Amino acid sequence: MAGEPDPTSPREAATGSVPPPRHGARWTAAAGLLLLVTAGAAILAIPATARSLPGCALNKLTGLHCTGCGATRAARSLLSLDIAQAFAWNAAFVLALPLIAILAFNLVAQVLGRPQRIALRVPPAVSWGAVALLVAFTVLRNLHGEPFCYLAPHAIH
Ligand SMILES: [Zn+2]
Repeated sequence: MAGEPDPTSPREAATGSVPPPRHGARWTAAAGLLLLVTAGAAILAIPATARSLPGCALNKLTGLHCTGCGATRAARSLLSLDIAQAFAWNAAFVLALPLIAILAFNLVAQVLGRPQRIALRVPPAVSWGAVALLVAFTVLRNLHGEPFCYLAPHAIH
């Protein structure tokens, strides 16, 4: 922003070195990791088919399946290494997991002030294609009858 001092010192700019992570950033990252592990352990204690998992507000209000419907149960199934059931809950979530992992890695790297990041150089056409696929997935999973009903969240066991 204009008017604010550049946080990079001239020496850092000249050498290309990156300042060490802030002390608070490490605590934030550690707290986030602890929260993630705790949430994973709590989710593992709940059966993937349990209705006690959080439901989707849009689904409760309208009966429609949004793009994320079934993602929590898919994550729960993945924690149990039940890949087929995870796909049945939400195939888009499972397919997007590598991208989600990269984004999470980059976010943690940014919080820690680390220069190591995974570059995501995706042409705009690919990005828009992915958005179009997600929109199509969301529309199709709300259609009745085969084969579209298999895109809606469902139990296979
Ligand atoms: Zn939903």
